[in-house]
Amino acid sequence: MKKFILTLTLLFSITCFTNAQNNYPQGYFRNPLNIPMQLAANFGELRTDHFHMGLDIRTQARENLPVHAAADGYVSRVKIEKYGYGHAIYITHPNGYTTLYGHLNSFYPALEKYLRDKQYKDQSWEQDFELPANLFPVTKGQFIANSGNTGGSQGPHLHFEIRDTKTGNNLNPLLFGMPLTDHIAPIVYGLYWYDRRYSAYTVSPQSLSIIKKNGIYTTTTPVVRVGSPIISLGVRMQDMNNASSFKFGVYHAALYVDDVLQFEFKLNDFLYPTSRYVNASMDYKRWVVNKQGIQYLSLLPGNKLSVFSPLDSDGNISLNDDQTHKIKIVLSDEKKNTTTISFSLKYDEALQKDYSIPADAFICDTNSANNIKTDNASISFDSNAFYDALPLRVFETASAYSKQVSPTIHIGDYTIPVHNDYNVMVKAAALTGNQKNKVVMELKSGSSATVKKGVWQGSWMLSSFNELGNVRLLIDEVPPVVTPISWKDGSTFISQKTLTVKCVDDVSRIASFTATLEDGSWLMFAKKSDYFTYTFDEHCPAGKHTLTITAMDVAGNAIVETYNFTKQ
Ligand SMILES: [Zn+2]
Repeated sequence: MKKFILTLTLLFSITCFTNAQNNYPQGYFRNPLNIPMQLAANFGELRTDHFHMGLDIRTQARENLPVHAAADGYVSRVKIEKYGYGHAIYITHPNGYTTLYGHLNSFYPALEKYLRDKQYKDQSWEQDFELPANLFPVTKGQFIANSGNTGGSQGPHLHFEIRDTKTGNNLNPLLFGMPLTDHIAPIVYGLYWYDRRYSAYTVSPQSLSIIKKNGIYTTTTPVVRVGSPIISLGVRMQDMNNASSFKFGVYHAALYVDDVLQFEFKLNDFLYPTSRYVNASMDYKRWVVNKQGIQYLSLLPGNKLSVFSPLDSDGNISLNDDQTHKIKIVLSDEKKNTTTISFSLKYDEALQKDYSIPADAFICDTNSANNIKTDNASISFDSNAFYDALPLRVFETASAYSKQVSPTIHIGDYTIPVHNDYNVMVKAAALTGNQKNKVVMELKSGSSATVKKGVWQGSWMLSSFNELGNVRLLIDEVPPVVTPISWKDGSTFISQKTLTVKCVDDVSRIASFTATLEDGSWLMFAKKSDYFTYTFDEHCPAGKHTLTITAMDVAGNAIVETYNFTKQ
């Protein structure tokens, strides 16, 4: 096991603690916008399923602000996707770094033309391609794109990343001397302890009341008595800078017990594949239920993230004596503005409180595979699935819903994180061959639903998910519905720049969407959530046209809609 962890550490932790912030070139990268830099999010901020991997730079709540190359280099990659970055440009620089600009609306004319030609040639709006160094060289400050709100963006902004070109490691841009004044130290909103005799998924956080005295946070009771001989701590905290009133994630935290460093993290860099360990680095339940980010000052057994210091200690605090123990927590930002929390802890057996574990729960171990079977389901988790021992409740309930063709399989719930995809096999009710072709597997996790086609193995359907919740088989025999937005069959487009349709499915989601004109020529529609938008260009000249839209859902039900319109 030790060897296993060591290998992972080598794989994941490229240079975290040796990569001293001073080694990065200072001022090499300029602000990619021509307005004073204000952030909406910093590097390492908590998100569900990932740390924020760059800076979100504010664009005055507007789109189409000019975006400039942060330094000399060449456009090395272009990505167009419905979610994630939306429209994105990667620029590779001669000094070993690559910058990324996301949620863009459009690129500078030469690159935009290259992209659109390729999209029409491939008949695909989605793109992800690399470019050689000689094709689109750029100089520092050159106009490269218009900012926007494309992809998984909730409002206009520029997402900006700096990566190590060789390793692909995402680096903290604020360690490169970005033009941002910051004299404000991190702020503490809450301090909590966890009873570590139990799994993190059994206990609830116990809040410690804190006050700020002479610039130092301390507990309202000088010596806090806790009812467990082994505990861990969690902090709710945020950072600020002088450019705006926005609040951000905290760069660095260190925990000292009796003046000995027990635990530390520094958000210098992440590799994308490890970013999901954010779910192990905070109180996940508090995050998804209350939107409160309590960050652990301890390492759960299944957390293999590299940003944590390679100390022998996992940050759990042993209080198994009569002594009072001195606790100091130091928080700091990239500019070394520092906040201290200082207090004392003592174990008091009389305060001990026991937690009960549901009698029907399966106890899933960390770092080993777990297989669970019920009458109509078989679920297998691999050894990286869980961050801590987990009492998992799995049971079945019947449903009268007419489209449901299996029991509902309850696999824990949305408040428990799972790291790797797990496999689920669900047994279907008796179905004809035709019906079987229209069955999908649905996972409901909290308010979100994921629908997958799955693979039949006899009367069992196999699929996989990366969230816990309720799984069932549904029969979907209804195709998607296409609705024109602000126009109708027979409309004339005069000054409108775009043509938009909404396309949704009742059970699953849209698996494919194609639009063609009367001569069969393909028309490119950009995608964002349920909306598909064509921007008028040379591919639709003035005159009368017939537009044919074909949309298919995950189950394979297709709809073909035809509309007539005139373009003036
Ligand atoms: Zn972002």
